[in-house]
Amino acid sequence: MGKITILGAGIIGLATATVLSETDPSHTITIVARDLPGDAPSQAWASPWACAGWVALGGSPSEEAMQLAALDYLRNTLVADHPESETGVRSVTLTDVFGTIPASAGASRGVGVWFTGRVPGYEVLSSQGDDGPLKVRYGSAVINPDVFLGWIRKQLEARGVRFERVAEIKALGDLKGRGHDVLVNASGLASRTLEDVKDEAVIMDRTYVTVVKGHFDGAFVHRGEGVYTYMFGRGDGTVVVGGVSEPVSGSVKNAAEIHQDMFRRAHEYLPEHFPSPKPEHYEVVKDLVGIRPLRPAGVRAEREELDGQKVVHAYGTTIGGYIHSFGLAKEAARLVTESL
Ligand SMILES: Cc1cc2nc3c(=O)[nH]c(=O)nc-3n(C[C@H](O)[C@H](O)[C@H](O)COP(=O)(O)OP(=O)(O)OC[C@H]3O[C@@H](n4cnc5c(N)ncnc54)[C@H](O)[C@@H]3O)c2cc1C
Repeated sequence: MGKITILGAGIIGLATATVLSETDPSHTITIVARDLPGDAPSQAWASPWACAGWVALGGSPSEEAMQLAALDYLRNTLVADHPESETGVRSVTLTDVFGTIPASAGASRGVGVWFTGRVPGYEVLSSQGDDGPLKVRYGSAVINPDVFLGWIRKQLEARGVRFERVAEIKALGDLKGRGHDVLVNASGLASRTLEDVKDEAVIMDRTYVTVVKGHFDGAFVHRGEGVYTYMFGRGDGTVVVGGVSEPVSGSVKNAAEIHQDMFRRAHEYLPEHFPSPKPEHYEVVKDLVGIRPLRPAGVRAEREELDGQKVVHAYGTTIGGYIHSFGLAKEAARLVTESL
């Protein structure tokens, strides 16, 4: 039993609170954050903007394990135990296409890509040589944050987890006086600027997504040289089309430019569902522009003692907070337990 404060109410803070409260219901857990599920959309945090599809990203062995654990939790706990209409989480079949397979995807290990045989229903649809092109299919999950974030907050509150809005904090040390045993730092982008963290490996990008009416019900990803395109069916008559990201330094692109690019790619890769490359042939429901916290150096799941405060860091999920979600949360919960 411990008194735990979690800084951050994005997917990582929420998932960590979920795993901690499942592991030991006697923990006293408080989530403190500037932005909370239920707030109007804001660029200040990432989680409300995600699409969010699970894709086998890879990385270090521990990141791979986190991603697989997250997929397992999404499909075998959330989808298995709760209706999609309540959670906004659904199991889907993902078609994952590599133009060429980068070394980081594991081709050099002689086993195909790193997730060969490690994701449900893995099947090779076509393959050419060791390093691509490769087209595979496997069981994945798609999460609709508009539904999911509110649902998981309610689940946590029902278990006694408290949510508290705080003004923007400047350092983890600002929270020391709360009297917790352990502080979990799940603050995403803030780890770059918090005075006692200042992790310069954390960077950000701007990402564009278009939600369009359509009946594509599965999930599709195309990984090309520096170009990543995805279509995720949301099961409600809409499809998310994404794949434009850029540094935040330039000005925001206009919707017409984004639509040209998105629908050209959607048509190229899924012509049966996107029969035209022209934007005027589609009914756009909304355009989303969000800021993603990235950490190319990899996920940080680590214990640290900061000025007498026991801290567990849980951030830096490269492009996929939802992809790592419950897997990073499991690791963070393990580190919390070790710290108590
Ligand atoms: C358009 C778009 C599409 C995406 N698609 C996908 C996808 O398909 N799959 C996927 O896995 N990921 C996707 N992502 C990425 C995903 O959204 C992020 O990786 C994830 O949301 C990061 O979650 P987080 O909990 O680490 O941080 P955040 O969601 O940013 O949450 C940070 C929390 O910390 C709080 N906080 C931060 N700083 C402070 C401070 N100084 N004081 C007090 N509180 C603070 C915030 O208020 C917030 O509660 C997408 C992102 C975007 C923008």
